[in-house]
Amino acid sequence: MLGQDYTSVRLRIKNLFLELTNLQLDIPQVDVLATKQTEDGKFIITVESRRQTTKCGVCQKENACNYGHGQAVRLRHLPILGQETYIIIQPRRAQCPTCLHHPTTTQTLKWYDQRSPHTKAYDQHLLKQLIGSTVADVSLKENLGYDAVMGALERQVDGKINVAKNYRDDFGTLRKQEMHRLRQTLPPATYKELI
Ligand SMILES: [Zn+2]
Repeated sequence: MLGQDYTSVRLRIKNLFLELTNLQLDIPQVDVLATKQTEDGKFIITVESRRQTTKCGVCQKENACNYGHGQAVRLRHLPILGQETYIIIQPRRAQCPTCLHHPTTTQTLKWYDQRSPHTKAYDQHLLKQLIGSTVADVSLKENLGYDAVMGALERQVDGKINVAKNYRDDFGTLRKQEMHRLRQTLPPATYKELI
């Protein structure tokens, strides 16, 4: 009797904790499947994405994820209750019905980069810590390798380079469109003077 009560209380605490975790995670469109705390206090949270589609890597068309799951990835995330926290996700996979040879694609999600061992939120957390601290300090404080901190920094710089590159590409397209428009509207002799 006492045992049963104890189990139900434990279950209620566990459900409450899952709800709290869902609130605290701050990751969009995921469901928490399981939460556990290791003996040394780390939180391991297994999540599943609510998104059921992903873009084909070849034709960029949005396909239903109906091709099972990829390998589970473990991502360091923002601390919960001051403890190291890790997210585990098994990304969904999709197969393109229209492209030649029906290529498969692993679902990409906005809150983590496939090549990164951290969630984007955690990378940002590290960058904030780096303001006014050295990489070695942050590495020690976060119990994280020096290279992992440097990795977060490099990904941020990479992101900036991508933004610059997209801007340059957009600018190139705009320039082409504008030249095309001028060619259509200006007398040929005036257009020739322009180019
Ligand atoms: Zn495709």
